[in-house]
Amino acid sequence: MIQSSNIQLPTEHPWGDCEVPISSEYGRIKRLLDLYRMDEDFREAFHRTPRLVVESLGLPIAAEDLHKAVHPHYVALSQGRTGPLPEDTPPGLAAYLALRDRQQAERIRRRDDIGPSHARLAAWRRRQIARCRLQLPSEFYETIMHGPFAIELSSGCSAGCWFCAVSAQEFKGHFPHRSQEATLFRGILEALHELQGTEFAREGVLYWATDPLDNPEYEHFLDDFVREFGRAPTTTTSLAAVDIERTRRLLERISSHPCWFQRFSIVKKRDLRSIMDAFTPEETANVEFLPAFSKLQPLTRSGRALEVAVRQDARGKEAPEQLLEQESTCACVTGFLVNMVERTVSLISPHPATPEAPHGYLEFGRGSFTDVGEFEQVVNGLADAVGDPSLDPDDVVGLPHGVRVSFEAPHVLVAHGQSCTLRLQHPAMNESLVRSLARPTTCLEFASGAHDTLGIAAVFDLLNQLHGHGVISRTTKDARP
Ligand code: SF4
Repeated sequence: MIQSSNIQLPTEHPWGDCEVPISSEYGRIKRLLDLYRMDEDFREAFHRTPRLVVESLGLPIAAEDLHKAVHPHYVALSQGRTGPLPEDTPPGLAAYLALRDRQQAERIRRRDDIGPSHARLAAWRRRQIARCRLQLPSEFYETIMHGPFAIELSSGCSAGCWFCAVSAQEFKGHFPHRSQEATLFRGILEALHELQGTEFAREGVLYWATDPLDNPEYEHFLDDFVREFGRAPTTTTSLAAVDIERTRRLLERISSHPCWFQRFSIVKKRDLRSIMDAFTPEETANVEFLPAFSKLQPLTRSGRALEVAVRQDARGKEAPEQLLEQESTCACVTGFLVNMVERTVSLISPHPATPEAPHGYLEFGRGSFTDVGEFEQVVNGLADAVGDPSLDPDDVVGLPHGVRVSFEAPHVLVAHGQSCTLRLQHPAMNESLVRSLARPTTCLEFASGAHDTLGIAAVFDLLNQLHGHGVISRTTKDARP
């Protein structure tokens, strides 16, 4: 059993120049925009008496500039979208929004520039990112980090949200932090660290279809994570208002280490008021609020949310349009999903909801373990099983769900995706081959079929390029795009 990792940990702050400043100005501007976005009563009070709002929040914005602060342009920008700022933007607000822009740019940089140190796993992850770019609308594609792992510390989730996109089961119990279990947990962190490398593995999280605060010993697991990776994980919880003092201590604990932002999902409107009353703007400067009670929060079209919408639609009731129409996912891991209670591990990647991926992610393999040695065997086996980056003659390939291709001009294929259109030029591309892609076929059949004008090697090169760009995926012969 591995007891301690030999890997040197960098200790610098992960955000670099994106670090949230510990200035009260930042926290107060964020509080204004958060309240204005999520709380109707606040919005009304603001428009009635903006001066009172300036005083109550101690805002460093001149009263005559306040109306600019809540301009829809800024409220939208505060959600992390990038865009140019008008020249007359008040300076404190401009600094706040510029930081949000830098954070979003950093998120994309990390998604694209880092990855597992295991070569096959890294190539597989790059292909999944390319596939998601074609399958998902840009607002979903751009926010998915394709993180290394998610570890569930409970079985099920006590929140029972109707909109749960991963269909979390009823809460059945948590994984304790007793000596034997803690040793297993630490060994699993070390195994993931060894397989995925420091830079990527430290992006892992300790929740999935679970709420971290359902585990009364979550804080001890978080300490283990910090010991392994030198950084606190992002904590996403919908239970922040259940025990305010526990949440306060957790935020203090997290902020004493390098960390990313934290996330509070606000399931009930009254929780919003409890949280805003209990925490100062400075205490929540690094907390992203997700108002799940409000129509502002985009719902994800998968799992329980999709089942509810489909039932409503069948009964002639008005179901949220975005649930019926727009492809989406809240899955953010292209790596390992581990459940410590059930002792299972699977390899997953985001995908729009389909019968094969009902919870918004595809599973590429699964195993179970009883100790660290077995866990290492299973994850190494899953990493090797994603296959060589180059296709084999026997590999069956087909178009991913929702991706269309057309033949545009001699040697040019166009892949039509949700976030982008790709134009790929290759000497072996011809109309017949583009048409054939609609049906899963072995690479050998492609190469030796009617499409072969330049020889088998050229067709294989073309298929490998399409595979690398996420335009085709390894599949089974029975799959129908
Ligand atoms: S949405 Fe999150 S908090 Fe709600 S049931 Fe699902 S996992 Fe639990």
